[in-house]
Amino acid sequence: MTVRTSVDHVIGESADDLRTWTRKLDGCPPVTHTILAACPNEAHGAERPTWFFPAGDADEGIAQLRCVSCGTPTDILDSADHWTFPHVWTCLTCAQSMAEVVLGLHAEDPSEGYDQVVTWLAITLRCTTCGRLDGLTDMHVANVPLETIVSSF
Ligand SMILES: [Zn+2]
Ligand SMILES: [Zn+2]
Repeated sequence: MTVRTSVDHVIGESADDLRTWTRKLDGCPPVTHTILAACPNEAHGAERPTWFFPAGDADEGIAQLRCVSCGTPTDILDSADHWTFPHVWTCLTCAQSMAEVVLGLHAEDPSEGYDQVVTWLAITLRCTTCGRLDGLTDMHVANVPLETIVSSF
């Protein structure tokens, strides 16, 4: 898929680098918004962790993020409905599985006066050990309001 093939050993020093890189993905719909994923488990309070064990299937366009600190899985959109039990992601450089995760969204204005809707998203990763950036999957999104996705993470 798009994000997989565009990656060639890019190293990011921070989540901001991952956001910047995600905004520049080409060969796909332009990324208009980026979200750094954080665990939605309320037990974390204000300090929501951003390290996950991601799993995804780029052929199916599905993904799940499992919080490193509490183990709670977060399914991206309706991924659970057609889950294929993919292996947990591993870094191609250092082989560990913890990553920071950015959702790169393509949002459109349906028409004036209506809220923006998301029609596509890419899930990108930064290895928490060596900083290697990677793509997990991308997926088409059925006009989900931007606010709905932003508020889920
Ligand atoms: Zn958590
Ligand atoms: Zn690594």
